[in-house]
Amino acid sequence: MSNLVKINDSVVNDLSADCENCFGLCCVALPYAKSADFPINKDAGTPCSNLQSNYRCGIHKNLRQKGFRGCAVYECFGAGQKVSQVMFSGNDWREYPSIKKDMFDVFPMIQQLHEMLFYLREALGLNDTQPIHKELQGVFDKTEKLTKLSTEEIFKLDVAAHRAEVNELLLQTSELVRAKVSNRKNNTRKSSDFIGAKLKGTDLRGTNLRGCLLIAADLRNADMRVTDFIGADLRDANLSGADLRGSIFLTQAQINSANGDIHTKLPASIKRPDHWI
Ligand code: SF4
Repeated sequence: MSNLVKINDSVVNDLSADCENCFGLCCVALPYAKSADFPINKDAGTPCSNLQSNYRCGIHKNLRQKGFRGCAVYECFGAGQKVSQVMFSGNDWREYPSIKKDMFDVFPMIQQLHEMLFYLREALGLNDTQPIHKELQGVFDKTEKLTKLSTEEIFKLDVAAHRAEVNELLLQTSELVRAKVSNRKNNTRKSSDFIGAKLKGTDLRGTNLRGCLLIAADLRNADMRVTDFIGADLRDANLSGADLRGSIFLTQAQINSANGDIHTKLPASIKRPDHWI
């Protein structure tokens, strides 16, 4: 057993990152490529050169300044502590190199399942989803059960097929929530490419922005209430003064990747990033 803090079930079941109880899995298991988000290349399974012996990042406070913006916006949805502490019982890959491969291979699969749980949990908490509550609960329970399988069983899973089943309910959730915006038909989008788009002050209420590329879009003072942001790429989008209250499937990582100010209105679950202030 490693000397990392032992954790209880409530922490294990959390759907947000708990780096203190993770063996730096995102910094080892995942690859990254030289780009606007990373200054160098790294292969999957190779520890990042900034990862310290205590599994903490040596440049955590300066990720953006050092060119590691991709790390600042990554979200494991609690997969790191689940794999480290539950699936591998707190055994450390440095101490037990024989577990490396399985640990690093299963991590991205658990990350995907936890991401689904994250969105399903949000959907279950919305009043508008009452008509499909039973179905949402059913697929939530099914997904949670998958995260409790052995590594061998997880490797046999068709995660893409399960995601399709989850997506169907998330799409229904989106429709139910956005239906309360009376004029949203005017905002039905014809493209998913809004890179650098000039959308300052635009009424985007009730729009489905699922998977949209909003990189560096000018969304200052845009009205984005009750909008579906699932999978939207908000890197460097300018959200200063924009109103995102009531929007759904928006993650902290997405907001961390954007720019905004003290006038940006966010859903209650989202914290205003330090770099906005
Ligand atoms: S820069 Fe830090 S957070 Fe990013 S992969 Fe390396 S150790 Fe992890």
